[in-house]
Amino acid sequence: MNTNHLPHIVIIGAGFAGLETARRLANTPVRISLIDKNNHHLFQPLLYQVAIAGLLPSQIAQPVRTIFRKQKNLTFQMGEVSAINLKERYVKLNGSVIAYDYLVVAAGGRTNFFGFDALEKAGFQIKDLETAVKTRNHLLSMFERASHEGDAEKRKAILTFVIVGGGPTGVETAGALAELISHVMVKDYPRSMLKEARVVLLEATSSLLGSYPAELRKSTLKLLQGKNVQVQLSTRMESFNGQRITLGDGSQIETQTVIWTAGIKPTEVVEELDVEKAGGGRIRILPTLQLPGHPETFVIGDTAFLEENGQALPMIATVAIQQGVTAAKNIHLSMDNLPLETFHYKDPGLLATIGRNAAVARIFGISFSGFTAWVIWVFLHIYRIIGFRNRMIIMFNWAWDYLFYDNQVRLITKE
Ligand SMILES: Cc1cc2nc3c(=O)[nH]c(=O)nc-3n(C[C@H](O)[C@H](O)[C@H](O)COP(=O)(O)OP(=O)(O)OC[C@H]3O[C@@H](n4cnc5c(N)ncnc54)[C@H](O)[C@@H]3O)c2cc1C
Repeated sequence: MNTNHLPHIVIIGAGFAGLETARRLANTPVRISLIDKNNHHLFQPLLYQVAIAGLLPSQIAQPVRTIFRKQKNLTFQMGEVSAINLKERYVKLNGSVIAYDYLVVAAGGRTNFFGFDALEKAGFQIKDLETAVKTRNHLLSMFERASHEGDAEKRKAILTFVIVGGGPTGVETAGALAELISHVMVKDYPRSMLKEARVVLLEATSSLLGSYPAELRKSTLKLLQGKNVQVQLSTRMESFNGQRITLGDGSQIETQTVIWTAGIKPTEVVEELDVEKAGGGRIRILPTLQLPGHPETFVIGDTAFLEENGQALPMIATVAIQQGVTAAKNIHLSMDNLPLETFHYKDPGLLATIGRNAAVARIFGISFSGFTAWVIWVFLHIYRIIGFRNRMIIMFNWAWDYLFYDNQVRLITKE
């Protein structure tokens, strides 16, 4: 059947936002081209588990072609969109030009090192599968190196792991890493060596999880300290040269491991787009999720900047998913020449885990911390993971870890 006469919708990004838009347009008479530079959709909230050797990459990612196998109006194209021409309505991909009737920009973001060049080279990040696996390999190698280092000072530096940024990713990584050392590595390496290991979490402001309610911020600090994470608040990292960190007060920490979780900036293609930006380079959009002056272009997820009640919406998966739903609805309405809906975020609550059986959560206005919050976190993440097989494997892995304190994927692999 010739479908060339149908409106062509180009979606950049198969993350949470792009995926949801594409799915919601499944039964619509349109042609969808979904483009992503990777061939998989990635469940980023569990990336830190890959970095601390708790899960394998294949357990939190699924090929886009598999997800959309049954959606006949969608074609997937793997490649990096290098330019967007809003005036002439096309995107550039792999040397060719793809014209569109509607464009959905859902390209997410990338790590912002704020110009710390040395940090970008020598530090670690957890933003995609490559960076998470690189972090895992490095962390595991540090234990191997420490095991044959005779000099106590050098060994201490090798076993000092610094995480910068006290947001959810920093908190989750710090908690999980501390447990990896105290419950898992302790089975493989001498206890005396592991006594020298320390996890340090640096946060520039005066509290962890700055956007969470005060009682959860306090519980988080307590839970992390209970796991022997050395939390340093109101502490700014000034530089890192691969061997040591210098802090704002001039003091230094000898370490070869800095995991940077303190900033996100837009992807290259968005950075180059000549439109109004706000809030760290995100594209300012209308409440209908359209780009001002370009009613056929929708910008959603981490790429978009939208305020509600005077506050910028956070860069989190639930915002991205809900915006994906509204973008699809508004494309429908626009095709029918009807007025578009304005986006309103329905906050399902806040969650962050601080290791095995400890988490903080705020759901339906009630704050939880400790084991109850952890159980909520486990089930919500399992529920949201795409693919029945992955859900079962992750559940099994966690049950195994929970019962036996034994991460099963402590492999150092070639990159
Ligand atoms: C480590 C970590 C932990 C997190 N934890 C949580 C959490 O616990 N809870 C929560 O709600 N949120 C969490 N987040 C945030 C959440 O993952 C993001 O808000 C969400 O992924 C945003 O969805 P998105 O669709 O806008 O972008 P993404 O999911 O980042 O997807 C963007 C997609 O666009 C593709 N892309 C980018 N540029 C191009 C291009 N030029 N051409 C083609 N494709 C391109 C990328 O490959 C990617 O697949 C976490 C994020 C990270 C990194």
